[in-house]
Amino acid sequence: MKEFRGISASPGIAMGRVLLLQDDHPSVPHYSIKDHMVESEYQRFVNAVAGATKDIESLKSKPERVLSSDEITLLDTQLLMLADPDIPEKVQKQLKDQLVNVESVLSQIMQAMISKLSSAQDEYLRERASDLHDVSKRIMGQLLKRKRPNVSKLSEDAILVCHDLLPSDAIGMDKIRVKGIATDAGGKTSHTAILARAFEIPAVLGLGKISQESEDGDFMIIDGSAGKVLLNPPEETIRDYTKRFKQLQKREIQLMKLNELPAETKDGKLIRLKANIEIPEEVDAALGHGADGIGLYRSEFLFIRPGGLPDEEEQFEAYKYVLEAMGNKPVTIRTLDLGGDKLQYNMKETGTGEKNPILGWRAIRFCLSHEDIFRTQLRALLRASMYGNLRIMFPLISGTQELDKTLAIIKEVRTEFQEKKVPIAPHIPMGIMIEVPSAALISDILAKKSHFFSIGTNDLIQYTVAVDRGNENIAYLYEPLHPGVLRLIRMVIDSAHKAGIVVGMCGEMAGDPLYTMVLVGLGLDEFSMSSFGIPQVKQIIRSTSVVEAEEFVGRLMEMSSPSEIDAYVRLTMEEKFGISDNPN
Ligand code: PEP
Ligand code: MG
Repeated sequence: MKEFRGISASPGIAMGRVLLLQDDHPSVPHYSIKDHMVESEYQRFVNAVAGATKDIESLKSKPERVLSSDEITLLDTQLLMLADPDIPEKVQKQLKDQLVNVESVLSQIMQAMISKLSSAQDEYLRERASDLHDVSKRIMGQLLKRKRPNVSKLSEDAILVCHDLLPSDAIGMDKIRVKGIATDAGGKTSHTAILARAFEIPAVLGLGKISQESEDGDFMIIDGSAGKVLLNPPEETIRDYTKRFKQLQKREIQLMKLNELPAETKDGKLIRLKANIEIPEEVDAALGHGADGIGLYRSEFLFIRPGGLPDEEEQFEAYKYVLEAMGNKPVTIRTLDLGGDKLQYNMKETGTGEKNPILGWRAIRFCLSHEDIFRTQLRALLRASMYGNLRIMFPLISGTQELDKTLAIIKEVRTEFQEKKVPIAPHIPMGIMIEVPSAALISDILAKKSHFFSIGTNDLIQYTVAVDRGNENIAYLYEPLHPGVLRLIRMVIDSAHKAGIVVGMCGEMAGDPLYTMVLVGLGLDEFSMSSFGIPQVKQIIRSTSVVEAEEFVGRLMEMSSPSEIDAYVRLTMEEKFGISDNPN
């Protein structure tokens, strides 16, 4: 048996056989072939070029794809390179001469061509080296594609193991058959982790080398809560984990008994516990776990999938479905937050080419510079407002200008509908996510322009302590209890309360029972989290009082180091509520 330690991304225990997903950029295979295989290897190359050409053409032809003129030029250049007769001739000749597989031949030819271009005198030619590199990757991707199993429909249960799982892979995976996830990369608040939690699939990320150490068919235990993975364990360990699995199930059933009870502190403060969802179908789990509403619907997951952007009708149907399913409970739909680690399907290939996407063209910034996409979403949202209790929320607001411009656009969309006599709800609360430190620092100003706040700690922490939330190497610095973070949260809550608006939190911190008492003590009105987390957070809220939580926070605020605060919080939560230590 081998044991690996990683980042606890989604709790629970899973056991089963490994299904290894090859990396998107696997190493190039090299093997000999016989004379009679030359033609079929060459045919594989021809098919791969055709596949790559088709991919580029379909990217270009989709009317709803947003392509800048630079992107179009880039794709045209790649098409020209794919049509260059020189490359097939070389491939055919070297296949015959070397009698090795086509991937190996292609890699040699491309490397030689790229290094020739890179050392050219002419700047234009030098720049073409990166285009050729892309073309080479595209053909290679086609050649190796068949090796990557399709995880959207599996014939048997599996534990997915891979280097990194993109959110677009996670959203499309077979959620019944995938029992657990183990990856080399990723962090606790990466979107893959968030999706794993949403789908209640135990996951451990940031394991370093798990994809190299395991093989298809290996037996694996994922201990999502402890951030531990066991490879090929002995019988007795399997028996032990089966027992623990059953105990966990029993505990969950116990907690579910709280569903009908309110999240009210011992001294009578009623706190709203809501659910975060990524896909409309999750409303069942939200209702099933006693959610008081949807605190965050990450609408961008409608956009991260094959087949281009969803049109107004498709979006309208999705929003209407969620609103109707939730009845009169409030549903907060967040406008598109694409970018960062959430790339539009296929964007990862054409990309926006940003060096620093986390600080780049994402969320409201992307929407305000793609007004057509934004207005389409707003139209769908306003129309859907007639079917339930809608609230609209804007992500990554960093200052007043973005908010003013956003509200002005919404006003225009509303006026257009009024002129056309399209019915829309008379009052739709509009709130913002506080997830950029500048927004937290001017929260008193923003509060006057918003109906509510929701603190997005996943981003607020990463931007405050300058730690990429998805980078396993610096995950130890991602500290929710950093005094800087706590001060910002307190500042936001105080600003909201002074302005008389409600303040919630929809970052992962809200769903971690370790922080419940801290957040109650800081004065948070609403918590929004993956549905399965609601019962345990509710249990803590019902067993504490605001007065004792405030005293507790008072003591924390006097401490200066994150580790001191962390240790104190863990000890208190363990003593009071039996919340056991979480290694991450
Ligand atoms: C957050 O940043 O805390 C948040 C809820 O948004 P997301 O995780 O989608 O970036
Ligand atoms: Mg965010």
